[in-house]
Amino acid sequence: MTEHHGSCHCGRIALTLRETPTDVGECNCSIGRRTGGLWHQCPPEAVTVVGEGISYQQGDRALDLWHCPTCGCTTHWSPTDPAYPRMAVNLRMFDSALWRDLPRRLIDGARY
Ligand SMILES: [Zn+2]
Repeated sequence: MTEHHGSCHCGRIALTLRETPTDVGECNCSIGRRTGGLWHQCPPEAVTVVGEGISYQQGDRALDLWHCPTCGCTTHWSPTDPAYPRMAVNLRMFDSALWRDLPRRLIDGARY
């Protein structure tokens, strides 16, 4: 199985992704356009997060957006409802070879 390893800038939060992205999601919602994340959505079982981040909830509080308390990098989001079967990692935390040539897909989060 292919594993991809990423981390925030200081290394406090490490991400392991056991899927290979085929496109990159860019969200135009109020937080997404500010953080500039490049998102890969997947089932929570496909990701291991090591390290303690700080979460931020906005709007309907459906998800926790995590960032590193030391270096500030936005690393991933997870659902506040543990039954929701999706989460996402910010591909910018991974080597750019993994994502730079992938097609960008607009997530039209500003509509919601
Ligand atoms: Zn960090």
